[in-house]
Amino acid sequence: MKAAVKTAEGDFEIKEVPIPEITRPDYVLVKVRSAGVCGSDLHSWKVPRPEAVGRITGHELAGDVVAVGDEVTNLKVGDRVGVDSVVSCGKCYWCRVGQDHICPECFSIRGETFARGFSEYVVGPAAKCYKLPDHVGYAEAAIMDVYGTGIHAIARTNAHVGQTVVIFGAGPVGVSLLDLLNVVGVKSIITDIIDGPLEFAKNTIGAYATINSKKEDPVKKVLELTDGMGADIVFECVGGGAGPFLIPQAVEMIRRKGQIALIGALRPGAALTVNWQKLQWGEIDIVPVSGFYHWGNDPEFKIVTDLLIEGKLHATEQITHRFPLDKINEAFDAAADKTKSKAIKVVIDF
Ligand SMILES: [Zn+2]
Ligand SMILES: [Zn+2]
Repeated sequence: MKAAVKTAEGDFEIKEVPIPEITRPDYVLVKVRSAGVCGSDLHSWKVPRPEAVGRITGHELAGDVVAVGDEVTNLKVGDRVGVDSVVSCGKCYWCRVGQDHICPECFSIRGETFARGFSEYVVGPAAKCYKLPDHVGYAEAAIMDVYGTGIHAIARTNAHVGQTVVIFGAGPVGVSLLDLLNVVGVKSIITDIIDGPLEFAKNTIGAYATINSKKEDPVKKVLELTDGMGADIVFECVGGGAGPFLIPQAVEMIRRKGQIALIGALRPGAALTVNWQKLQWGEIDIVPVSGFYHWGNDPEFKIVTDLLIEGKLHATEQITHRFPLDKINEAFDAAADKTKSKAIKVVIDF
């Protein structure tokens, strides 16, 4: 099969590799039909990393079941499926208490199973596949991974109707979260430094208000929009180098008893200068968010896939750029420079 393999320069080359085998009776073989380019994939784009050479990545995917293990009962050959690639060991303490997404083995096990979406076939547990009706596209189903993070952030903060929140960053994570907060009935103010994604968030998804933080002071504007009270929750969806600047800003625009959810991937060792006194006296909670798993009795991936099937999400509108696997380097360029490409979400179609 064809696969996009990481090179020493941190981009991809298309190589012929063996099709993975079903190694366990509860596993299925899936022919990948679509895979999303995630913001987390972009952190290593064109960054030379010797340990990653030869690796196959891509953790947002959907496809067709082409073979099933002996013990698989929920799927058959020919089923179209969305794939939850958060595959964990199933044996450690965290897996046993239903917290698979923080399993210490999760990263490596995903990389050996479903999180290899930039290749033609993947193998992994049937229980992590969700059947799709014909009216749902593969690309839309693939980006349920992004929505999964959004729903997990809502579950972690208990965001609810009547609240006014701020989302930092109108990238795919911020926009998907906005889409879900609208379903919940929360008023969302979204910020970014590029106008295009803000217009998309306002006109297509339905943000309550937008702020270009390069043009106006976001703290002043949020206080104005909330009658001086501040936001109930700030969802920080940017991370990286901007995190140490944005988290202190969140503290300045949050109301007492508010919450700051950390969703954007932060760098290890990033130093923060925060108004700790306001944080402490106002009993403001910091809520880290990492991946997704269960909300109540249901997998979060299932919750968002059901919303997609019911037509409640704007997944199709988000997918602005599609590339074949052979053009994966162009796809990553488009996703990395959104000012130039005007991309919201980029996917690889097979
Ligand atoms: Zn992702
Ligand atoms: Zn585990």
